[in-house]
Amino acid sequence: MEFKVTKKQAVILDPSKNMLEKRIPVEVRTDPLTGRTSRICHFRRLTFEKPDLTRLVEASQATCPFCPDKVLTLTPCFPAEIAPEGRLILEDMVLFPNIAPYDGLGAVGTLGSRHYIPMTEIEPQRIANGLRLAMDFYRRVRAARHPEAVYYLLSWNYMPASGSSLIHPHLQIFASSTAPNQLREELSAAKAYELQHGSIYWDDLVSAEKAEGSRYLGRIGRIEWIAGFAPFSVVGDVTAVIADCRTILDLNEPDLIAIAKGLTAAMAAYDKMGIYNFNVCFFPGAEEDEFARLHLVFSPRIYYNPLLATPDATALRILYNESICAGFPEEIAAAVREEFKAPR
Ligand SMILES: [Zn+2]
Repeated sequence: MEFKVTKKQAVILDPSKNMLEKRIPVEVRTDPLTGRTSRICHFRRLTFEKPDLTRLVEASQATCPFCPDKVLTLTPCFPAEIAPEGRLILEDMVLFPNIAPYDGLGAVGTLGSRHYIPMTEIEPQRIANGLRLAMDFYRRVRAARHPEAVYYLLSWNYMPASGSSLIHPHLQIFASSTAPNQLREELSAAKAYELQHGSIYWDDLVSAEKAEGSRYLGRIGRIEWIAGFAPFSVVGDVTAVIADCRTILDLNEPDLIAIAKGLTAAMAAYDKMGIYNFNVCFFPGAEEDEFARLHLVFSPRIYYNPLLATPDATALRILYNESICAGFPEEIAAAVREEFKAPR
C-alpha cells in the first residue's frame, strides 16, 4: 500500500522580510484507494477562538421543530408500511421522515430533547442510542423490501459550519440504491483492489497504518481508529474501520458503544483546538459487497474567517473537489491520540 506524498515548493518574495526569497512547502497526498488528492498547505496554528454561542442557541430555540414541545406536531409521519405508529421513538429521541428528502427514502432522527448540547457534553450513550434508532429504521425498510434499501447511509452535521440549518442535534438517516459519489468511488476501487490483491482494502489499510504508526489512534472493541492520510477537512479527520462489518445493520451492541466512545474522543480532541462543528458520514457497502468494509469519517469544520462566517467549503473544495489540510495529519494525530488513550 502506497502512501504517496508529492512535495512541492512555492517561491515568493516576502513583503514582511524586505522581499527576501521565501520557500513555502506544499504536499500533495494521494489517497491509496481512490487516488483522490489532498493538499497539505496553508499551514497555520490549529487553535481557534470558540465564540459565545448563547445568543445563537437562545434565538434558535423558539422556532426549533425538534424541541420536545413541537417535534410531535411539526414533523411528518411515515406511511404505515414503514411505521404504523408514524414515528420511531427511543427514550427522548424521535425519528421521522425528512421533510426535505435526498432520495426516495429519508429520515431524520433527533438525538434527544436537549436543544443544544456542547460537543464535549454529548454522551457516548446518546450517540449509541441514535445509532440504535437508525438501525430500527433500516431494519424496517429492509423488511418492507423498499427499493432504496440498498445502501444504509447515515450522516451527522453538527452546528452551522457543518451545513446544519438547526442547532438541535440530529442525524440524517437514509437509504438509497444510488451510492453518493465518494462512496461509489470507494466501493468501485475496493472491488478492483480485492480482485488484484485478494484482500479487503480497509483491512489492509488498518494493518498498514498500525505498522506505520504515525496516524494510528487506537482500537476500541473491534473498531480501529486512524487519522486520515489525505484528509477531507482543513484540520484533518478521523476514520474508524469496523472489523467484519459491511453495513450498519451488521453492528452489534458493543460496536455501538465503541463507535460512540471513539467519536466522543475525537470531539474532545478537537474541542481542545477550539473547534465546535463537524460532519460524520458512514460508508457502508451493499449487503452482498464482500469487498466492502463499514467505515466512518469524523471531519471537523471551521470558519476560514469567523467574523464573516466564511465557510471552509471554497471553489477548490466544492467544484474541484480538492481538499486542503492546514497541518500535517501526523501532528494532528499525535494530539488526537491522547484522547483515545484517556478512559471514557
Ligand atoms: Zn430544539
